[in-house]
Parts: sequence; C-alpha cells; structure tokens
Amino acid sequence: MKPWEANIRKTVPYVPGEQPDKPRMIKLNTNENPYPPAPGVAESLYTFDAGNLRKYPDPAAGGLVRALAKRYRVKTEQVFAGVGSDDVLAMAFLTFFNSEKPVLFPDITYSFYEVWADVFRIPFEKVPLDERFRIRSRDYARENGGIIFPNPNAPTGEAESLALVEDILKQNRDVIVIVDEAYIDFGGQSALALLQDYDNLLVVQTFSKSRSLAGMRIGYAIGSAELIGYLNDVKYSFNSYTLSQPAIAAGMAALVDESYFKETIHKIVTTRERVKGEFQKLGFASGTSQSNFLFVTHPHIPAKELFEALKEHNIYVRYFDKPRIDNYLRITIGTDEEMDALLYFLRDYISRRDAGM
Ligand SMILES: *Cc1c(COP(=O)(O)O)cnc(C)c1O
Repeated sequence: MKPWEANIRKTVPYVPGEQPDKPRMIKLNTNENPYPPAPGVAESLYTFDAGNLRKYPDPAAGGLVRALAKRYRVKTEQVFAGVGSDDVLAMAFLTFFNSEKPVLFPDITYSFYEVWADVFRIPFEKVPLDERFRIRSRDYARENGGIIFPNPNAPTGEAESLALVEDILKQNRDVIVIVDEAYIDFGGQSALALLQDYDNLLVVQTFSKSRSLAGMRIGYAIGSAELIGYLNDVKYSFNSYTLSQPAIAAGMAALVDESYFKETIHKIVTTRERVKGEFQKLGFASGTSQSNFLFVTHPHIPAKELFEALKEHNIYVRYFDKPRIDNYLRITIGTDEEMDALLYFLRDYISRRDAGM
C-alpha cells in the first residue's frame, strides 16, 4: 500500500449502461428516446453565436428556470436546474441528507442512490419492495434521515399512486422526501400536485428521456422556495457555472414545443403497450410499466442467456446481476421498427430453443 493510500476517498462507482457505437445496432439499454429532440433544439444550436462562448453562462440558468417555472406553474424561486438530473440529485443528497439517521430508498431502484450515499458518507437503509415490486408506504413510517424513490420506479417501471406518495409525505414531515420523476411523462401522476401542501417535498425531473436530450445534460428540481434556496447554497459552494450556454438555449427550445413533446410521448406509449402484449404472447411476464421501458422475465429462459443472445445479435438491452432481479431484462422502448426486430429475434430464438435446436 502506498503511503498516501489511506487519504484517498475510495468508492465503488455507478456503472452506466454501455454506449457501444456499432453501425447496425439496436440500442435499448439506457432508456434513451428513439426520436430526435424538438426541431427548435437544432435551430437553437445552428443559430447559436459561438462568439458568446468567451463569456461564462448565466450561473442561475435564468432563461431556462423561468421557462420551467412557467411550464409547471410555480414561482422561479421554486426551480433549480442542473447538468442532468444526476447532478441535481447529487446536490440534493449533499444538501438534504445530512443526518446521522439512515436515508431510506427501495432495495430495487436506481443504483446511483447507493453510490451517492456512499461517496458522501450518508448512512442509508434499503427498504424491500413487496413481491410485486411495489412500494409499501407503511415501510417508510419509521425514523430516518430522508427518503428518496423514483416514481415510476426504475428498473421496474412500476408507478405508485399520488395517494401513496402523499402517505409517505404525511408520515415524514420532519425530513426531506425526494421523488425522482425521470419517467413521469410516460405515465403515473406527478407529485408536483402535492407541492402546495408539503414544503419538505422535492420533485426531480429530466430532459434526458421524455425530451430526447440525454446528450445535452439538463435536469431540474422543483420544491418550496426554501428548499431550492438551500440547494442553491450548496451548488454555489461547489460549481457555479453548471449548465452551458448551448444547453440553456436547447432546453428552452425543447420546452416551448409542447405539441412535439406530446406527440413523441404518445408514440412511445403506444409502442410500449403494443410490445407489452407481444411479450406476453411470447410467455414473458412484464408488470405494468408506466415508463419508456419494459421489465420482463421469462418463465424458463434465463434472462442472462437472452441478454447474451441479443447482444450477439447487436441488440443491446440491460441486465442487472443483482438479488431479486437477476432473471429480468430492462428493455427500452425504441421505434416500432426496432421493437419489431427485437420481437422477431426473440420469437425465432424461443421457438428454436423450445424445439431443442
Ligand atoms: C435516467 C435517470 C436519471 C438521470 O438522468 P439524467 O440523464 O442525469 O437526467 C435519474 N434517475 C433515474 C431513475 C433515471 O432513470
């Protein structure tokens, strides 16, 4: 061991899905949107004046924050923008989870939560989902240093009702409750409706999935002005200029095109429901996903085997070698053509396998 090793902050990092770049691959492994962002986004980039880049961006991303406040009918003081919701969530962990008591989150959830808790030395406890992978609100009625869960959850896709989210808030008025709504535009009810009654609620959303801007890195949080104030204090103690000028412009352009947004969501949800039925016909169990992915398991073919076979065929899906979910695949909803190619492969694979070929 080197003498300086003892002073290193060692941590086990989050492992993002692969980003392979092959000419004819079908990429359904990181919940990216298969459709391009709103046309105004490209326009905002073509017309962007590169000369402005000599200046720092607005540290508050004011244009985007005002546009978000208008879109979600809240005050600008209630909105915080960051470099993807991962940045927003990391800042929120640092700001709001500052207790000796454990932060609670589901055992099956976005695996980054555990990584942030670990790197920031925040004690945490994982709360098991029930056997149908659903959150039980009574499990969160105990002493804790804060709560976070995604709704819809990832990687299960299950959405919980607003009533359940409110139950958790009611039982936890003395800690901050963060609802990660990365997938809310694809289904489920947003906790934004509860903001007026709960000043300890923080809702986090992203442009990465429903607005097709994963590559631009834009996320935001909406909460009481007080919470957003504390979040800003930590952000400005860390890095003031987070969102770049092009990201602010692109985000504003995406946000104004409501009809394109609705149309894209509609296409993905329609494909999701059709593909859900096709997976059932193939014998898979698929849950009631309300997100832009399906979480499926087959009664006799191991998920790992299917994952490898699909990959061999240049179709990338996500497999998690983790307790309770190691026989599931998380499959992003792509275009109809992509999903048909996936289904075609699976039909063929399963029938050959069943025939012992
Ligand atoms: C994708 C995702 C995020 C992060 O998205 P960003 O690209 O950083 O905005 C956060 N939470 C969950 C549950 C996600 O699936």
